[in-house]
Amino acid sequence: MTKLSTQYLEEAIEDSRPFAANGSVNAALPTFDDTMKELLGVTIITPDFKIYRAGDYNQYVPMQSTSKIIGLMLALEDFGKERVFQTVGMEPMGDFFNSISTLEAPGSDKPFNPMINAGAISIASLIKGQNVENRFDRYLTFLRDITENDELQMDETVYKSEIANGARNRSLAYFMQSTGTIVTDVEEALDLYFRMNSVMMCAEDLARVGLFLARGGIDPDGNTLIPAHHLRTVKAIMLTSGMYNASGHYAVEVGFPCKSGVSGTIIGSVPGVMGIGVVAPAIDDKGNSTAGGALIKKLSKDLNLNMFGIE
Ligand code: GLU
Repeated sequence: MTKLSTQYLEEAIEDSRPFAANGSVNAALPTFDDTMKELLGVTIITPDFKIYRAGDYNQYVPMQSTSKIIGLMLALEDFGKERVFQTVGMEPMGDFFNSISTLEAPGSDKPFNPMINAGAISIASLIKGQNVENRFDRYLTFLRDITENDELQMDETVYKSEIANGARNRSLAYFMQSTGTIVTDVEEALDLYFRMNSVMMCAEDLARVGLFLARGGIDPDGNTLIPAHHLRTVKAIMLTSGMYNASGHYAVEVGFPCKSGVSGTIIGSVPGVMGIGVVAPAIDDKGNSTAGGALIKKLSKDLNLNMFGIE
Protein backbone atom coordinates (compact mmCIF):
# COMPACT_ATOMS: atom_id res chain seq x y z
CA MET A 1 0.00 0.00 0.00
CA THR A 2 1.22 3.52 -0.82
CA LYS A 3 2.15 5.71 2.13
CA LEU A 4 0.72 9.22 2.26
CA SER A 5 3.38 11.89 1.70
CA THR A 6 3.62 15.26 0.01
CA GLN A 7 5.64 13.71 -2.79
CA TYR A 8 2.98 11.05 -3.39
CA LEU A 9 0.29 13.78 -3.43
CA GLU A 10 2.24 15.82 -5.98
CA GLU A 11 2.50 12.78 -8.25
CA ALA A 12 -1.19 12.01 -7.78
CA ILE A 13 -2.05 15.58 -8.82
CA GLU A 14 -0.04 15.28 -12.03
CA ASP A 15 -1.73 11.94 -12.85
CA SER A 16 -5.18 13.46 -12.31
CA ARG A 17 -4.72 16.85 -13.99
CA PRO A 18 -5.31 15.57 -17.57
CA PHE A 19 -8.88 14.62 -16.58
CA ALA A 20 -9.69 18.34 -16.60
CA ALA A 21 -9.89 18.00 -20.40
CA ASN A 22 -13.11 15.96 -19.96
CA GLY A 23 -14.90 18.79 -18.17
CA SER A 24 -15.73 22.45 -18.53
CA VAL A 25 -15.56 25.40 -16.16
CA ASN A 26 -18.90 26.69 -14.87
CA ALA A 27 -19.04 30.06 -16.64
CA ALA A 28 -22.12 31.05 -14.63
CA LEU A 29 -19.82 31.73 -11.67
CA PRO A 30 -18.21 35.20 -11.56
CA THR A 31 -14.47 35.19 -12.49
CA PHE A 32 -14.72 31.56 -13.65
CA ASP A 33 -13.40 31.02 -17.18
CA ASP A 34 -11.30 28.60 -19.21
CA THR A 35 -8.05 29.90 -17.75
CA MET A 36 -9.06 28.01 -14.58
CA LYS A 37 -9.60 24.69 -16.31
CA GLU A 38 -6.24 23.17 -15.42
CA LEU A 39 -6.27 24.21 -11.75
CA LEU A 40 -6.06 21.32 -9.31
CA GLY A 41 -5.33 21.70 -5.62
CA VAL A 42 -5.60 19.24 -2.76
CA THR A 43 -5.07 19.23 0.98
CA ILE A 44 -5.27 16.21 3.28
CA ILE A 45 -5.33 16.51 7.07
CA THR A 46 -5.05 13.53 9.42
CA PRO A 47 -6.58 13.40 12.94
CA ASP A 48 -3.20 14.30 14.47
CA PHE A 49 -3.32 17.48 12.33
CA LYS A 50 -0.54 16.53 9.92
CA ILE A 51 -1.17 18.50 6.73
CA TYR A 52 -0.26 17.42 3.19
CA ARG A 53 -0.72 19.90 0.34
CA ALA A 54 -0.15 19.75 -3.41
CA GLY A 55 -0.94 21.72 -6.55
CA ASP A 56 -3.16 24.80 -6.44
CA TYR A 57 -4.09 24.37 -2.79
CA ASN A 58 -4.22 28.14 -2.24
CA GLN A 59 -6.93 28.73 -4.84
CA TYR A 60 -10.10 30.18 -3.27
CA VAL A 61 -13.43 29.40 -4.96
CA PRO A 62 -17.09 29.68 -3.85
CA MET A 63 -17.98 26.60 -1.82
CA GLN A 64 -21.29 26.16 -3.70
CA SER A 65 -22.98 22.85 -2.88
CA THR A 66 -20.43 21.82 -0.28
CA SER A 67 -22.41 24.31 1.86
CA LYS A 68 -25.26 21.78 1.90
CA ILE A 69 -23.55 19.60 4.50
CA ILE A 70 -22.94 22.58 6.79
CA GLY A 71 -26.61 23.58 6.56
CA LEU A 72 -27.63 20.02 7.38
CA MET A 73 -25.35 19.94 10.45
CA LEU A 74 -26.89 23.16 11.79
CA ALA A 75 -30.45 22.00 11.15
CA LEU A 76 -29.79 18.69 12.92
CA GLU A 77 -28.32 20.59 15.84
CA ASP A 78 -31.33 22.95 15.92
CA PHE A 79 -34.12 20.40 15.50
CA GLY A 80 -32.82 16.83 15.70
CA LYS A 81 -33.11 14.07 13.12
CA GLU A 82 -36.81 13.35 13.42
CA ARG A 83 -37.98 16.90 12.76
CA VAL A 84 -35.42 17.55 9.96
CA PHE A 85 -36.48 14.42 8.09
CA GLN A 86 -40.12 15.38 8.32
CA THR A 87 -39.15 18.27 6.04
CA VAL A 88 -36.72 16.54 3.71
CA GLY A 89 -36.18 12.91 2.70
CA MET A 90 -33.01 10.83 3.00
CA GLU A 91 -33.24 8.87 -0.25
CA PRO A 92 -30.89 9.19 -3.23
CA MET A 93 -32.30 10.76 -6.39
CA GLY A 94 -31.25 9.78 -9.91
CA ASP A 95 -32.21 13.15 -11.35
CA PHE A 96 -30.28 16.44 -11.70
CA PHE A 97 -29.55 18.38 -8.51
CA ASN A 98 -31.90 21.24 -9.40
CA SER A 99 -34.73 19.06 -10.65
CA ILE A 100 -38.22 20.43 -10.14
CA SER A 101 -40.24 17.51 -11.55
CA THR A 102 -39.26 15.18 -8.70
CA LEU A 103 -40.96 17.54 -6.24
CA GLU A 104 -44.22 16.73 -7.92
CA ALA A 105 -43.73 12.99 -8.32
CA PRO A 106 -46.68 10.96 -7.00
CA GLY A 107 -46.27 10.25 -3.31
CA SER A 108 -43.34 12.64 -2.83
CA ASP A 109 -44.42 15.38 -0.46
CA LYS A 110 -40.87 16.57 0.25
CA PRO A 111 -37.49 16.86 -1.53
CA PHE A 112 -35.64 13.56 -1.91
CA ASN A 113 -32.65 14.53 0.27
CA PRO A 114 -30.73 17.51 1.75
CA MET A 115 -27.98 17.36 -0.92
CA ILE A 116 -30.16 18.54 -3.81
CA ASN A 117 -31.10 22.20 -4.18
CA ALA A 118 -34.73 21.78 -3.11
CA GLY A 119 -33.65 19.86 -0.02
CA ALA A 120 -30.96 22.38 0.88
CA ILE A 121 -33.35 25.32 0.50
CA SER A 122 -35.89 23.64 2.77
CA ILE A 123 -33.05 22.94 5.25
CA ALA A 124 -32.08 26.65 5.05
CA SER A 125 -35.69 27.53 5.91
CA LEU A 126 -35.24 25.64 9.21
CA ILE A 127 -31.95 27.13 10.47
CA LYS A 128 -32.68 29.17 13.58
CA GLY A 129 -32.05 32.92 14.01
CA GLN A 130 -33.93 36.24 14.29
CA ASN A 131 -33.24 37.34 10.71
CA VAL A 132 -31.20 36.32 7.71
CA GLU A 133 -28.09 38.22 8.85
CA ASN A 134 -28.20 36.48 12.19
CA ARG A 135 -28.80 33.07 10.64
CA PHE A 136 -25.95 33.52 8.18
CA ASP A 137 -23.75 34.74 11.01
CA ARG A 138 -24.36 31.46 12.85
CA TYR A 139 -23.45 29.54 9.69
CA LEU A 140 -20.25 31.53 9.15
CA THR A 141 -19.17 31.33 12.80
CA PHE A 142 -19.68 27.57 12.76
CA LEU A 143 -17.70 27.27 9.52
CA ARG A 144 -14.89 29.43 10.90
CA ASP A 145 -14.74 27.32 14.07
CA ILE A 146 -14.52 24.06 12.11
CA THR A 147 -11.90 25.35 9.69
CA GLU A 148 -9.99 27.47 12.23
CA ASN A 149 -10.05 30.18 9.58
CA ASP A 150 -11.48 33.46 10.90
CA GLU A 151 -11.09 35.08 7.52
CA LEU A 152 -13.66 32.96 5.73
CA GLN A 153 -16.31 35.14 4.20
CA MET A 154 -18.94 35.46 1.55
CA ASP A 155 -17.94 37.01 -1.77
CA GLU A 156 -20.38 39.83 -2.63
CA THR A 157 -20.03 39.36 -6.39
CA VAL A 158 -20.79 35.64 -6.14
CA TYR A 159 -23.74 36.38 -3.83
CA LYS A 160 -25.17 38.95 -6.28
CA SER A 161 -24.78 36.49 -9.12
CA GLU A 162 -26.56 33.74 -7.12
CA ILE A 163 -29.46 36.18 -6.68
CA ALA A 164 -29.43 37.26 -10.33
CA ASN A 165 -29.30 33.68 -11.62
CA GLY A 166 -31.59 32.23 -8.97
CA ALA A 167 -34.81 31.79 -10.97
CA ARG A 168 -34.63 28.01 -10.79
CA ASN A 169 -34.00 27.99 -7.05
CA ARG A 170 -36.82 30.51 -6.56
CA SER A 171 -39.17 28.20 -8.48
CA LEU A 172 -38.18 25.28 -6.26
CA ALA A 173 -38.71 27.33 -3.11
CA TYR A 174 -42.10 28.72 -4.11
CA PHE A 175 -43.24 25.30 -5.24
CA MET A 176 -42.31 23.95 -1.81
CA GLN A 177 -44.19 26.82 -0.18
CA SER A 178 -47.27 25.79 -2.18
CA THR A 179 -47.06 22.22 -0.84
CA GLY A 180 -46.37 23.30 2.74
CA THR A 181 -42.77 21.99 2.78
CA ILE A 182 -41.47 25.49 3.48
CA VAL A 183 -43.48 27.20 6.18
CA THR A 184 -41.15 30.10 7.05
CA ASP A 185 -40.36 33.15 4.87
CA VAL A 186 -39.40 31.85 1.41
CA GLU A 187 -37.31 34.86 0.37
CA GLU A 188 -35.36 34.63 3.59
CA ALA A 189 -34.66 30.90 3.08
CA LEU A 190 -33.43 31.67 -0.45
CA ASP A 191 -31.32 34.60 0.70
CA LEU A 192 -29.64 32.40 3.32
CA TYR A 193 -29.10 29.62 0.76
CA PHE A 194 -27.51 32.08 -1.71
CA ARG A 195 -25.18 33.44 0.99
CA MET A 196 -24.20 29.94 2.09
CA ASN A 197 -23.20 29.06 -1.48
CA SER A 198 -21.07 32.21 -1.81
CA VAL A 199 -18.52 31.64 0.97
CA MET A 200 -15.01 31.38 -0.49
CA MET A 201 -12.86 28.40 0.49
CA CYS A 202 -9.58 26.79 -0.52
CA ALA A 203 -8.62 23.09 -0.42
CA GLU A 204 -7.39 23.36 3.18
CA ASP A 205 -10.69 24.84 4.43
CA LEU A 206 -12.57 22.05 2.66
CA ALA A 207 -10.22 19.42 4.13
CA ARG A 208 -10.86 20.77 7.62
CA VAL A 209 -14.59 20.28 7.16
CA GLY A 210 -13.86 16.70 6.06
CA LEU A 211 -11.65 16.21 9.10
CA PHE A 212 -14.31 17.61 11.44
CA LEU A 213 -16.69 14.95 10.12
CA ALA A 214 -13.96 12.29 10.28
CA ARG A 215 -13.29 13.15 13.94
CA GLY A 216 -16.97 12.91 14.87
CA GLY A 217 -17.70 16.61 15.48
CA ILE A 218 -14.75 17.60 17.63
CA ASP A 219 -13.18 20.95 16.74
CA PRO A 220 -9.39 21.44 16.71
CA ASP A 221 -9.51 22.64 20.35
CA GLY A 222 -11.14 19.39 21.46
CA ASN A 223 -14.67 20.80 21.94
CA THR A 224 -17.63 18.81 20.65
CA LEU A 225 -19.48 21.22 18.36
CA ILE A 226 -21.99 18.75 16.91
CA PRO A 227 -22.84 15.39 18.49
CA ALA A 228 -21.30 12.45 16.62
CA HIS A 229 -24.70 10.83 16.01
CA HIS A 230 -25.74 13.83 13.87
CA LEU A 231 -22.55 13.54 11.85
CA ARG A 232 -23.21 9.85 11.30
CA THR A 233 -26.40 10.97 9.52
CA VAL A 234 -24.55 13.63 7.49
CA LYS A 235 -21.81 11.20 6.38
CA ALA A 236 -24.33 8.52 5.39
CA ILE A 237 -26.23 11.03 3.25
CA MET A 238 -22.98 12.29 1.70
CA LEU A 239 -22.15 8.71 0.70
CA THR A 240 -25.56 8.07 -0.87
CA SER A 241 -26.26 11.53 -2.34
CA GLY A 242 -23.20 13.81 -2.03
CA MET A 243 -21.90 13.49 -5.59
CA TYR A 244 -25.10 14.50 -7.40
CA ASN A 245 -26.53 11.73 -9.58
CA ALA A 246 -23.15 9.99 -9.75
CA SER A 247 -23.25 9.20 -6.02
CA GLY A 248 -23.63 5.45 -6.55
CA HIS A 249 -20.59 5.45 -8.83
CA TYR A 250 -18.51 7.31 -6.21
CA ALA A 251 -19.76 5.03 -3.41
CA VAL A 252 -18.39 2.08 -5.37
CA GLU A 253 -15.18 3.64 -6.72
CA VAL A 254 -14.24 5.84 -3.74
CA GLY A 255 -16.14 4.30 -0.84
CA PHE A 256 -16.08 7.14 1.67
CA PRO A 257 -18.42 10.12 2.18
CA CYS A 258 -17.88 13.03 -0.24
CA LYS A 259 -19.71 16.20 -1.22
CA SER A 260 -19.04 18.17 -4.39
CA GLY A 261 -19.96 21.64 -5.65
CA VAL A 262 -20.25 23.08 -9.16
CA SER A 263 -17.21 25.29 -8.55
CA GLY A 264 -15.17 22.06 -8.71
CA THR A 265 -14.95 21.67 -4.94
CA ILE A 266 -14.97 18.29 -3.18
CA ILE A 267 -14.98 17.55 0.54
CA GLY A 268 -13.99 13.98 1.40
CA SER A 269 -14.20 12.47 4.86
CA VAL A 270 -12.62 9.15 5.74
CA PRO A 271 -13.95 8.42 9.25
CA GLY A 272 -11.15 8.31 11.80
CA VAL A 273 -8.51 8.61 9.07
CA MET A 274 -8.47 11.95 7.23
CA GLY A 275 -10.26 14.94 5.77
CA ILE A 276 -9.68 15.72 2.08
CA GLY A 277 -10.29 19.03 0.29
CA VAL A 278 -10.07 19.38 -3.49
CA VAL A 279 -10.45 22.38 -5.81
CA ALA A 280 -10.45 21.64 -9.54
CA PRO A 281 -12.97 23.77 -11.47
CA ALA A 282 -13.59 21.72 -14.64
CA ILE A 283 -16.82 19.78 -14.02
CA ASP A 284 -18.71 17.06 -15.90
CA ASP A 285 -22.35 17.16 -17.00
CA LYS A 286 -23.50 15.95 -13.57
CA GLY A 287 -21.68 18.77 -11.74
CA ASN A 288 -18.67 16.88 -10.37
CA SER A 289 -15.06 17.97 -10.85
CA THR A 290 -13.46 15.70 -13.45
CA ALA A 291 -9.84 15.99 -12.28
CA GLY A 292 -11.00 16.15 -8.65
CA GLY A 293 -13.09 13.01 -9.09
CA ALA A 294 -10.15 11.20 -10.72
CA LEU A 295 -7.94 12.30 -7.83
CA ILE A 296 -10.20 11.02 -5.05
CA LYS A 297 -10.62 7.70 -6.85
CA LYS A 298 -6.85 7.41 -7.07
CA LEU A 299 -6.37 8.36 -3.41
CA SER A 300 -8.97 5.81 -2.36
CA LYS A 301 -7.27 3.04 -4.32
CA ASP A 302 -3.63 3.89 -3.55
CA LEU A 303 -4.14 4.63 0.14
CA ASN A 304 -6.71 1.87 0.68
CA LEU A 305 -9.45 4.24 1.89
CA ASN A 306 -12.55 2.48 0.53
CA MET A 307 -14.55 1.47 3.61
CA PHE A 308 -16.06 -1.46 1.71
CA GLY A 309 -12.70 -3.09 1.00
CA ILE A 310 -9.97 -3.27 -1.60
CA GLU A 311 -10.65 -3.71 -5.31
N1 GLU B 1 -25.31 27.70 -6.68
C1 GLU B 1 -25.84 26.77 -7.63
C2 GLU B 1 -27.30 26.49 -7.36
O1 GLU B 1 -27.78 26.74 -6.29
C3 GLU B 1 -25.08 25.48 -7.67
C4 GLU B 1 -25.02 24.70 -6.40
C5 GLU B 1 -24.17 23.45 -6.57
O2 GLU B 1 -22.95 23.51 -6.37
O3 GLU B 1 -24.74 22.41 -6.92
O4 GLU B 1 -27.97 26.00 -8.24
